[in-house]
Amino acid sequence: MIVAIDGPAASGKSSVAKEVARRLNFTYIDSGAMFRALTFWALDQALDKEEELLPLLESLTIKSLDGGIELNGRELYHELRIKKVDESVSYYSAMASVREKLKEVQRQEAKEANVIMDGRDIGSCVFPEAEVKIFLTASVEERAKRRFLQRSNKMSYEEILEDIRRRDAYDTTREIAPLVMARDALLLDTSSLSLEETIDKVEEIIKNVS
Ligand code: C5P
Repeated sequence: MIVAIDGPAASGKSSVAKEVARRLNFTYIDSGAMFRALTFWALDQALDKEEELLPLLESLTIKSLDGGIELNGRELYHELRIKKVDESVSYYSAMASVREKLKEVQRQEAKEANVIMDGRDIGSCVFPEAEVKIFLTASVEERAKRRFLQRSNKMSYEEILEDIRRRDAYDTTREIAPLVMARDALLLDTSSLSLEETIDKVEEIIKNVS
């Protein structure tokens, strides 16, 4: 069974998906982490343009780890959350060849297990056949507040708010696989729900389908 959880930056997708996966014994796959790993790699190699990345993408190996990504044999964890990656990830994720490559990896990783995958286009594009599609959202201020409280990097609330607004704009307006709610997805606005309440709701939705 495939469960797709999509939504804008910092909407709580990964916290929800991770815990629901644990409760139901599903495999959790963080597609955003793949885009972040690829961004880290591209910045590290000073690859800026799509033409520069293109010839290297085919042989690039990407594998999900618990809380991280293995890219070309190198394990990446905290590197995925650094400011430089936050700032550039939307730029690289708008590239057609990058999306194509990661879609392949995402479909491959979901082959053998019951999977919960979160991202931006999982229900609309990567797994249009997913049995459950949930679109999680919350107001931009609420999302910035939650991200700030996680203190995953040294950014101030205002910087985070600005970063999320910028990524929302970029992710929803890019030409290929923009952030949209799949027509058959369930909308869940979590602005006034606690994390626990959201997790319970998502778990219930999945149980009703399986
Ligand atoms: O989910 P997270 O915020 O870690 O994702 C980082 C970025 O990766 C997003 O802002 C978006 O640009 C990109 N992304 C995407 N498609 C996905 C997952 C993430 O374009 N399925």
